[in-house]
Amino acid sequence: MKSFDELLAESVAAHGHLCPGQVVGVRLALLGLRLLGFEAPPTLPQLKKLIVFVEMDRCTGDAVAHTSGVKLGRRSLKFVDYGIMAATFVNLATDQAFRVISTEESRDLADLYAPAEPDHYRRQLLAYKVMPDSVMFRVQEVKVDLSEYDLPGPTRRKAVCGKCGQVVRDNREVKQNGAVYCRPCAWGAYFTLAREIAWPEMNWAPGPAVNPGRPIDLDLHEAMPRVG
Ligand SMILES: [Zn+2]
Ligand SMILES: [Zn+2]
Repeated sequence: MKSFDELLAESVAAHGHLCPGQVVGVRLALLGLRLLGFEAPPTLPQLKKLIVFVEMDRCTGDAVAHTSGVKLGRRSLKFVDYGIMAATFVNLATDQAFRVISTEESRDLADLYAPAEPDHYRRQLLAYKVMPDSVMFRVQEVKVDLSEYDLPGPTRRKAVCGKCGQVVRDNREVKQNGAVYCRPCAWGAYFTLAREIAWPEMNWAPGPAVNPGRPIDLDLHEAMPRVG
């Protein structure tokens, strides 16, 4: 178990700067993990049982993810774009889940907890270190329904979009009128006006060609060291 200051220092290093969001995020994660009975940061086997839903893409989100040890690449970090300063900590082994919400009152009360500090920003930093959990957070016990397609592990399903041909992993395809589509084709996307383009130096690759003049050896990928 690391100390709060160690966890904060590590989160700051990963995030790139010290900010009030780092202090709030580390504390939010500490509380969520403690409610599940997990270490901070969790190590194996706890780490494999943990899923964290982060509801904002702000400084706090980085600190929550870092302190919890969850990653998009492991499918243990889920981003839901609610714009809410909250995160939910799920124990896959027990289905226990706690949603920890950062209170707006804590922002208003920061001045009271560090009155001697003249600078507003530093006042927030200091206040969030001494403010009790009960002032900083509300907690909801919640039920999170995760399907087998949301869990860590290998891809369990692939589908092919009937409109654009894109492969869609993990049951994220949409069925409409008997056909299967990717979500952008079915629902529209965050982008519009997509058109395929050529770009400068299209044939660039980071490594030299292997066996130039011969067809590409399909086993090449197996021979490469596995990353991640
Ligand atoms: Zn920040
Ligand atoms: Zn499509």
